[in-house]
Amino acid sequence: MSHHRVAILSSHISPVSAVMASEKEAALSATPSDAPTIFDKIISKEIPSTVVYEDDKVLAFRDITPQGPVHILLIPKVRDGLTGLSKAEERHIDILGRLLYTAKLVAKQEGLDEGFRIVINDGPQGCQSVYHIHVHLIGGRQMNWPPG
Ligand code: 5GP
Repeated sequence: MSHHRVAILSSHISPVSAVMASEKEAALSATPSDAPTIFDKIISKEIPSTVVYEDDKVLAFRDITPQGPVHILLIPKVRDGLTGLSKAEERHIDILGRLLYTAKLVAKQEGLDEGFRIVINDGPQGCQSVYHIHVHLIGGRQMNWPPG
């Protein structure tokens, strides 16, 4: 079992402050790579998740460690080399647009009429812990700026 997997599993049972620390630790210990990720198992339904939207290209499900009353992850069902935004190529323009457009649809579906935040973490400094591109949709509370 990899270090990364242990960190994610322990985050499921930790108090909030420990979760916040372990999420950062998970990000810093995750090695950017093309290896399969936990999101493959979420797509295949091998690992259960709360799906809020699904079509042939995009899956949206609730984050297991929500950072607000609403926290949803939107991912492409086929990663196609898009481990993170920094790996984007021209062929990814359609799916990138679709992820953002779907985030807008899901925000509406979730009743986030007062606003929401979209985040794409990239690489160790961006606190990315899962190397399958994903858009965070967070809402239901007042956000702050600058982010941590
Ligand atoms: P990142 O830190 O890479 O931007 O975001 C990865 C996100 O995936 C984190 O917010 C984390 O809580 C979430 N996550 C990790 N493992 C699971 C899981 O097994 N199920 C769900 N629903 N979310 C997960």
